[in-house]
Amino acid sequence: MALMTGKDYFDSLRRMKTRVYLRGEKVENWVDHPLISPSIRCAAMTYALAQNSEYEDLMTATSNLTGRKINRFTHLHQSAEDLVKKVKMQRLLGQKTASCFQRCVGMDAFNAVYSTTFEIDEASGTHYHENFKNFLIYVQDNDLMVDGAMTDPKGDRSKAPHEQADPDMFVRVVERRENGIVVCGAKCHQTGAVNSHWQLIMPTMAMGEADRDWAVSFACPSDAEGVYMVYGRQSCDTRKLEGCSIDVGNEKFGGQEALVVLDHVFIPNEYIFMNGEYAFAGMMVERFAGYHRQSYGGCKTGVGDVIIGAAALAAEYHGVEKASAVKDKLIEMIHLNETMYSCGVACSCEGCETKAGNYQIDLLLANVCKQNVTRFPYEIARLAEDIAGGLMVTMPSQVDFESELQVGSQGETISHICRKYFSGKEGIPAENRQRVLRFLENICLGADAVGYRTESLHGAGSPQAQRIMIARQGDIQGKKQMAKNITGIQK
Ligand code: SF4
Ligand code: FE
Repeated sequence: MALMTGKDYFDSLRRMKTRVYLRGEKVENWVDHPLISPSIRCAAMTYALAQNSEYEDLMTATSNLTGRKINRFTHLHQSAEDLVKKVKMQRLLGQKTASCFQRCVGMDAFNAVYSTTFEIDEASGTHYHENFKNFLIYVQDNDLMVDGAMTDPKGDRSKAPHEQADPDMFVRVVERRENGIVVCGAKCHQTGAVNSHWQLIMPTMAMGEADRDWAVSFACPSDAEGVYMVYGRQSCDTRKLEGCSIDVGNEKFGGQEALVVLDHVFIPNEYIFMNGEYAFAGMMVERFAGYHRQSYGGCKTGVGDVIIGAAALAAEYHGVEKASAVKDKLIEMIHLNETMYSCGVACSCEGCETKAGNYQIDLLLANVCKQNVTRFPYEIARLAEDIAGGLMVTMPSQVDFESELQVGSQGETISHICRKYFSGKEGIPAENRQRVLRFLENICLGADAVGYRTESLHGAGSPQAQRIMIARQGDIQGKKQMAKNITGIQK
């Protein structure tokens, strides 16, 4: 099958029977729901841009499994150059959507599961790698979107999976049959889960022997029997229900997270990629997290480009674009943004081949990349808010800007009053200012702040997770030896 267009993608979702619950109700037509559709449009850009010859080199690749042309979001990276192209593709999509386009979690999971299953088979004589290759060929040939699902609810975090009062706090095998397994549990804050065709489940952390039943990886369709989802709300999300497109900030695009529940779901053998091999749970987690930490060096910098542009526009509309303090703030924003990008590119360039043959990023540099991402978007957002000024959060609604209600002594309407007092530099329509400030409000503290700020902090692992990896990969002993060599210390 050829690569899907954005429209094909929407149509493919309409054929699915995914069970979605939102604000206490089951949503039958979730594809067109105003709270959900911006996130689907956003993911659809991963399809639409792949159709554009200008972006063909970044957005598509040749499958090492079939030799066929595929969307890069379903690709197994074959070189360091492929890893760099991945980051560039994500920056491009961030620039086009100013939001989380969601499809990266699947791509990152494919690459982690591919290499890990190879090594499980090598050690255990299992055949998970073959299962996974067949699954991935199906995904590539049908150009599917897959949710790479890792994060379990985790319950009491001081306890291992088998110690939890409720064993469902981590996804687990509840029954083993000749032809497959039955699984229970849930995955939390799953990016793009609702509009993914399939779920690719992975364990959430390293596990011991007693956690054997929780060391499980598999794939299932998003609308499989027993799967349902509860949609996560976002700050100010109900603005999307008001019919005021300007007040939404980014009307077209948005991100999405959901709780994915697996209630006694049967998984046939061919879709199982780990089933009790607890010693490899940590490897799968580390690899997926590494790839996803690299991803943030791409997507967040693309969104950062739009934020910097919006802040520069706000300065222009306020009439302060020539002020040296404003110029310096914009320079600082660019510096921070490009530093994140540099880390994304660096961990890609330093990538190396796995035993399975696909390429993996340099884990230390990927963790440094994400550690910076836990900080810099906050500073970029702070500087954007600084340039935007308080009007960003005090401006009346779009309804007021359009209200014909007469209030002034000369019969002036509220619309007239708003436009008069909220116009800035001469010749710039007040609506331009409205649009750019509402965009910044939304991305800094509205619905899209989920993707730009909180996800920068907690997505792909919270800051401490990267610090653990940096400690592990940072080779302090080697550095001590270097210091000894230079200073002539013998022992
Ligand atoms: Fe992709 Fe970034 Fe969204 Fe993760 S946060 S899915 S890397 S766009
Ligand atoms: Fe994420």
